[in-house]
Amino acid sequence: MSSSTPGTTGKKSPGTTGKKAKAATEAKAAAPSKAASRKAATGAKAAAPSKAPKAESHLAMVRRARRINRELAEVYPYAHPELDFRNPFELLVATVLSAQTTDLRVNQTTPALFAAYPTPEDMAAAVPEEMEEIIRPTGFFRAKTKSLLGLSAALRDEFGGEVPGRLEDLVKLPGVGRKTANVVLGNAFGVPGITVDTHFGRLVRRWKWTDEEDPVKVEAVVAGIFPKSEWTMLSHRVVFHGRRICHARKPACGACPIAPLCPSYGEGETDPEKARKLLKYEMGGYPGQRLSPPADYPGKPAPALGDG
Ligand code: SF4
Repeated sequence: MSSSTPGTTGKKSPGTTGKKAKAATEAKAAAPSKAASRKAATGAKAAAPSKAPKAESHLAMVRRARRINRELAEVYPYAHPELDFRNPFELLVATVLSAQTTDLRVNQTTPALFAAYPTPEDMAAAVPEEMEEIIRPTGFFRAKTKSLLGLSAALRDEFGGEVPGRLEDLVKLPGVGRKTANVVLGNAFGVPGITVDTHFGRLVRRWKWTDEEDPVKVEAVVAGIFPKSEWTMLSHRVVFHGRRICHARKPACGACPIAPLCPSYGEGETDPEKARKLLKYEMGGYPGQRLSPPADYPGKPAPALGDG
């Protein structure tokens, strides 16, 4: 295992160009998104760490972090929230349901839920056992039903049946923490927010942006590195990278487009061929998590519940 930092200044190593062409050819066969494949292959080939990392100044880390964000923007120009929603209420409910399960499972469950209870008023009046049956596939369905009943009653009684657009109001709702509130603010209200979930925390620690484990502290550190205008999209890009390439147990370092900028290169599989097999969702040629992905999503939509 290597833990060196091959490119803390953001410069590509010499001799990358010839390798780029070869790597791009190799990547073509592996993934449906050509741009993403090219970037992934480039990173895999450019990464050949051989020296121990030098101590990095805060300024150098900030520059490297911003470079990572720019690279990720090229790899995932289509990054987006991976929960299906049509309005702030649906996003709020979907985000509450996403605890301890995948976005895919939530997306496969919410069509029936919103057909039965389209508004906070409808949901607040639900028969608990009936709602439990609908959301059972997402796990912890009794606790989640309780949260959704409390949440929708609070929206009905305290906010006129509307989802509030302020963090301080959102976090007072039953079952809504800072992470959920930031997801809703960033994606349903256009208010910049950094969403520190398990992927985001893992990746920024691998990139040595911070050592903090506490999501609120991680959020504060990252907020100091990037301008507000980047916060929401940065969050999506980082989570996309965590789900597709930089996995918790087996990061696909050998197929990673930002390997030259990553101090943790080598924590996962470095062989390009083996690494490509670890890629997930559209990069691995599989369906995404959304049943209704945005128009620019290059992969296939996820199947409905029971369809695959
Ligand atoms: S997969 Fe993760 S750990 Fe490996 S090089 Fe890429 S960002 Fe770093």
